[in-house]
Amino acid sequence: MDEISDGYSARQLFSQGICYTYDDVIFHPGHIHFGAHQVDLTTNVTKKIKLRTPIVSSPMDTVTEGDMAVTMAMLGGMGFVHYNNTIEEQVKHVIKAKKHTPGMVVSPMVLSPSDTISKIDKLKDLKDFSSVCVTDTGLLGGKLLGIVTPMETDFVTNREQSLSEIMLRDVVTAPESTTAEAALTMIKEKRLDNVCIVNAAGELVALAAREWFKDARFYPAPGAPSLDASGKLLCGAAVGTRDADRDRVAALVAAGVDAVILDSSQGDSTFQLDMLAHLKRAYPDLEVIGGNIVNSYQAKRLIQAGADGLRVGMGSGSICTTQEVCAVGRGQAAAVFHSAKAARELGVPIIADGGIQNSGHIVKALALGASAVMCGSMFAGTTEAPGDYFFVQGVKVKKYRGMGSLDAMTKGSESRYYGDTQTLKIAQGVSGTVRDKGSIRRTVPFLVQAVKQGFQDLGAQHIEEARQLLYGGAMKMEGRTQAAQAEGGVHDMLTFEKKPW
Ligand code: 5GP
Repeated sequence: MDEISDGYSARQLFSQGICYTYDDVIFHPGHIHFGAHQVDLTTNVTKKIKLRTPIVSSPMDTVTEGDMAVTMAMLGGMGFVHYNNTIEEQVKHVIKAKKHTPGMVVSPMVLSPSDTISKIDKLKDLKDFSSVCVTDTGLLGGKLLGIVTPMETDFVTNREQSLSEIMLRDVVTAPESTTAEAALTMIKEKRLDNVCIVNAAGELVALAAREWFKDARFYPAPGAPSLDASGKLLCGAAVGTRDADRDRVAALVAAGVDAVILDSSQGDSTFQLDMLAHLKRAYPDLEVIGGNIVNSYQAKRLIQAGADGLRVGMGSGSICTTQEVCAVGRGQAAAVFHSAKAARELGVPIIADGGIQNSGHIVKALALGASAVMCGSMFAGTTEAPGDYFFVQGVKVKKYRGMGSLDAMTKGSESRYYGDTQTLKIAQGVSGTVRDKGSIRRTVPFLVQAVKQGFQDLGAQHIEEARQLLYGGAMKMEGRTQAAQAEGGVHDMLTFEKKPW
């Protein structure tokens, strides 16, 4: 009697000569034996670094600097600071993450006594804050002089008044050793709006704020922060593979960086093998992520050269034109499956990089063998992304650009695309804008909750169980026709509003 195959294993699906991407593939449900709240997404982003949230932010100059790195780590993920900047600038962002006390306001607004209320008004159009700390330098780290809350400014008609005239001088402070939990207790018990954290010299080092804590009340719990062995937030950074990048790594290591990414659009190169050999020799404790790669052969080569993690994806990014310009790359689902399978055999996790547009894509990447996903566009346009908001035809936006766009390469990122030695620059990415997406403090917990629900439907309570289903062949899937994809989306509605959460 003929056996009808009811679904395919990943091995069967991905050996047909078609490079599927996330939307082409759909999983069959598995058997549910646990609640979604019992799903544990703890993962390894490198051989040694464990994260509770399997999501990291991309080293792009419109995605990850200090604020993003701090917030990603506070949410249980990790941020990788870009290197389209000077060594000093990049180090400053890493230090910001390593110094930040988990739970405190990420970038408190700080001004000087001579600034005016109108300056606060202007800043409020660009940034989200309610109170302003006043220090002698106008910067965090300056001597704390006072605080300005909406109570001091809301009903003042003369907006040119200086902050020194209206600020509260009697500020509630707490010492540097105060944890966020202790500050929250103070705020609740003493009915405060803010507690300024100061060092022995009276300099402002952090801010704990009622509004900040309140924000998180309605979100799903994001998971404990990602911490290093000494309790500091984890932070990664990207570097290139030129000789000058060896100095960059030295400075990053001195600043306490936990992992570096060797950032190349095509990482299977002698440059990367040489850099890996150098870094593993010079910094045996530093976790080094190689890439980008898209197949098992490349994975094996970089792992044999010492990579502790791999970044997978070529041409799948939302701002990327590599497949169009160079005819090289791979559909992201196929790239993840094949690279992850080879890397697992050698004990190295992979990061699925690029092309993540929704929580379903994260489920697919993890189910196909990735240990984490790396997001660019999902986090561009958020409060934590670098750059100010501006308006285009009435829509509040931030800039988002590919690191291989002419715009970014002009600022220095061309080595990622081997363009720094050429006189003619060929773009492999675009530059544009994305809508204001609010804070990742809201987005990430909801994403994680949605991914947990996906894992529940698959019948996998944790990443390792998903691996057993995947490689044992019990996880069934199929390719989707265009009609099946259309059916899987919203259809036949006259009007509707699509709110993800
Ligand atoms: P997204 O999450 O926006 O879909 O993709 C982000 C990823 O795209 C980055 O992590 C990086 O791997 C890749 N990327 C960033 N800029 C460029 C670019 O200009 N060209 C190409 N080919 N890839 C890029």
